[in-house]
Amino acid sequence: MSDASTEHAWVDTHCHLDAPEFVGVLHDIVSMASSKGVRAILLPTVQASDWGRAKNLVNQYGNQIPGLVYALDIHPLYINQAQESDIDTLKNQIEQSLDDPRFVGIGEIGLDYFVEDLDPQRQEYFFHAQLDLAQQFQLPVILHVRRSQDAILKALRRRKVSSGIAHAFNGSHQQAEKFIELGFKLGFGGAATYDRALQIRRLLQDLPLESIVTETDALDIPLAWLKEEGGQFNESALLPRIAQQLADIRGISEEVFSKAVWQNAMQALPRWSSLMTNNPKPQSAS
Ligand SMILES: [Zn+2]
Repeated sequence: MSDASTEHAWVDTHCHLDAPEFVGVLHDIVSMASSKGVRAILLPTVQASDWGRAKNLVNQYGNQIPGLVYALDIHPLYINQAQESDIDTLKNQIEQSLDDPRFVGIGEIGLDYFVEDLDPQRQEYFFHAQLDLAQQFQLPVILHVRRSQDAILKALRRRKVSSGIAHAFNGSHQQAEKFIELGFKLGFGGAATYDRALQIRRLLQDLPLESIVTETDALDIPLAWLKEEGGQFNESALLPRIAQQLADIRGISEEVFSKAVWQNAMQALPRWSSLMTNNPKPQSAS
């Protein structure tokens, strides 16, 4: 109880809890996150074969993390394995998931112009088709934006997608402002833990506090201090420690930061907000 971070309720807006590395240790991963004050975690899927498991997983562990939720998608790095007909399957899955309060949106979807061997046209096909679904079902989206800020902004402007999160944001200040104008929050996490991440740290200091959300992007994203603190891999239990560092960079208290990023995440994903409002103990840690 002496850990200061447990006094606040934290939200991890991006954690691949269904990663193969977590199989077998999921119970511990979830318990540890809960004990550190993490009250909400969003699990973005990556491909059709994962959707069912993600749904089961969040419903299984929802008693420990009241705000454990999931999003459905075809991830840009998985388009080579995907079939074009997966878009229809996704549409059906979304229809079936609308009565599940733990289903909160479509993601992560986007464009990755950094990784080679991904045909830009095929990426655009899957991205645009999923944005159309977001518009059709009025669902928010979680965006994977890598060297593709302008292309994604252009695609968003052509549709009515009301809100969402641009995850692991790493664009310019000007691009950040454009996402914010379109109703998006920007995800910050592991990258900002490195002293050399000057541009990301500047964004964290300068952007409106209402536009920032916290994420681990576990388990792939490295953290500057993970090894020296004895961590094995990035996980949601580390979110409060990451957030503390983000609050320091911002120059505000942990308390103010935790309240703001919680509110921002819930605002970006209205179904998430409804789940927490209807949950008997949404923020018991605060
Ligand atoms: Zn991700």
